Order: sequence, then C-alpha cells, then structure tokens
Amino acid sequence: RAKEAGGARWTLYDARTNAEAVSRYTVSVRMPVALERGEFFLEYQPLCSLADGTMTAVEALVRWRHPLLGVLRPDEFVPAAEETGLILPLGRWILRQACAQAADWQRRYGDRAPQVNVNITARQARSKGLISDVGRILADTGLDPGLLQLEITEGTALGPRDESLRVLNALVDKGVTLAVDDFGTGWSNLAYLRDLPLSGLKLSSSFIIDPSPDPNADEEIGWRIVGGLASLSRSLGLTLTAEGVETAEIAERLLTMGCDWGQGWYFGRPAAAASLEALMLSTPPLVSVPPHVAGRTP
Ligand code: C2E
Ligand code: MG
Ligand code: MG
Ligand code: MG
Repeated sequence: RAKEAGGARWTLYDARTNAEAVSRYTVSVRMPVALERGEFFLEYQPLCSLADGTMTAVEALVRWRHPLLGVLRPDEFVPAAEETGLILPLGRWILRQACAQAADWQRRYGDRAPQVNVNITARQARSKGLISDVGRILADTGLDPGLLQLEITEGTALGPRDESLRVLNALVDKGVTLAVDDFGTGWSNLAYLRDLPLSGLKLSSSFIIDPSPDPNADEEIGWRIVGGLASLSRSLGLTLTAEGVETAEIAERLLTMGCDWGQGWYFGRPAAAASLEALMLSTPPLVSVPPHVAGRTP
C-alpha cells in the first residue's frame, strides 16, 4: 500500500505531477493491454430519494488499477481515451460489466434491484455501433432495459442534425432511459431538452460545492439557480438528481428546493458492488434513512 510506504508514495506523487503527459502516453500505449489484463474495474455510488433516503439507482464509475501509477480516476484517462478512440472498446467493456452486475441484482433482488447508470461519452453516442452493442449486451445479460440509464453530458447533445440524436433515440426505443449529466455546466443550447427523449437531469455539483469559495460570493444565488432548474425539470416531467450531496443540511435544502434524488458522500461513496447489497436486502425504506427524515418515517 502506498499509504504505508513513504518512498512509494513519493514516487506515485512524482509520477502524477506530469499527469497530463503521463496519461496521454499511458492511455494510448497501455490501454489495450490494460483491458486485456483486467486492470479496469467499476465502483458503484448510490443515488437516493431525498424524500425517504431509499436507494433508487447506482452510478457505475470506472477506475484503472495501473501497475505503476496506482488507481487512476476517470478524469485522468477518459479524456485521452475519448481523443484516441480507445473509449469505444473501453466503453463497451464498461457497459457489459455494468449490465452484467445489474442483471445479477435483478435476478437476486427483483423489484428492489436498482437502476444502473452508465456514463457515455460524445464519441460513443455518435458511433452507430453503440446501438448494436447495447442490444447485444442486453440480450446476453438478460437485463431489463428499463434498469439501464445512460448518462450523457450537455456537449453530447449537439443539435437536431447530430448523429448522436439518432443513436440516442434508437436506444430509447429499446427501453433504455437517458439522463443529462453535469446539467448546467455545458453552456449549451437548451434545445436538446426538447429534442432528446430524456428521463432525468443530474445537476452539476458545482452549484452546491464551490471549488474556490469566494467569501464575497452570494451563495443564495446558487440556491436560487437550483430552485429554478428544479421547476424547469419538474415542468418537463424529468427526475432531477443533485450531485455532490455531502451533508444532511444540503440534502434537506435540496429537497425543499424541489430536487428528487441526491448523490454524494452523505448517501455513500463509490464502492465495490457487493457493499451496496445490504441496501437492496432491507425492505423499503432501505437502511440508510438519512437523519433529517428519520423522524418523519412512520
Ligand atoms: P460524474 O459522472 O459527474 O460522476 C460523479 C463524480 O462525482 C464521481 O467522480 C464521484 O466519485 C464524484 N462524487 C460523488 N459524490 C461526491 C461528493 O459528495 N463530493 C465530491 N466532491 N465528489 C463526489 P469520479 O468517479 O472521479 O468520476 C469523474 C467523472 O468521470 C464522472 O463524473 C464521469 O463524467 C466520468 N466517468 C466516470 N466513470 C465513467 C465511465 O465509466 N465512462 C465514462 N465515459 N466516463 C466516466
Ligand atoms: Mg455521471
Ligand atoms: Mg455527474
Ligand atoms: Mg461530474
């Protein structure tokens, strides 16, 4: 463990100071080998109802156990994989892995099995192969398509003529659902809200977690934006998930602002699949009833 060995830890830190260069080289050269050797793995993070704390869905998050650099986070290799096109084989592996896990939960937990959310990049959404890949993976795993939700970023929904619209529509025709990830950060034309067959929006954590807190900033403005986006979401019939929910106070506030679901450390950190199963076993309301609503449950 790097934690125990000061020397190893320093080496790791040192290697990561060149993250950009290392990652680009590493990704293009090592990724195909890494896929074959099973160096990638998925963690899952719960999405919970803000009203009663029950787990409604989980998001699959990819990690790379690099033999020299340790566990890499997706921000360190997904952008390079997207540029080089290696996201296509990696994305296929992620989908298959997540769907196999979801199908296993479906068999073991029935209607208590969570929806599984999988992130899809712009390049994947533009590739025609995605339609047949998803079709084959659903058939092979036996997963109910309604338990698979694809998360796309605002940048993916380019416009009415974009190929991704055709691909995403075809996937929704198969029964899969769609959500827009990091909603509110893309500076994009909101026409996609009309053009895409969406089921949900995931509000970027940047509205809630300010990365560079400015003591002069009026945080009430952030909350007013959240409230406005919540009523937009509601009027479109979409489920709004707030990301980056770290405390009970924030979960409570988001509920009063009209958000439906929350995701964040307060509900659970990304973790191995098995560690979420306790939440599926218990009858609703599932175990992690947040303290702020525990008093209200009958
Ligand atoms: P995302 O889809 O917005 O995923 C949520 C990110 O927020 C995750 O980071 C998660 O660990 C982090 N997070 C969750 N709760 C909290 C919280 O309470 N506080 C804070 N500060 N952070 C929280 P992660 O796993 O590093 O993923 C980063 C991004 O990488 C994801 O953002 C997603 O865009 C991308 N990504 C992750 N897995 C995949 C994948 O399988 N395929 C693709 N294409 N992209 C992925
Ligand atoms: Mg996501
Ligand atoms: Mg997100
Ligand atoms: Mg994000």
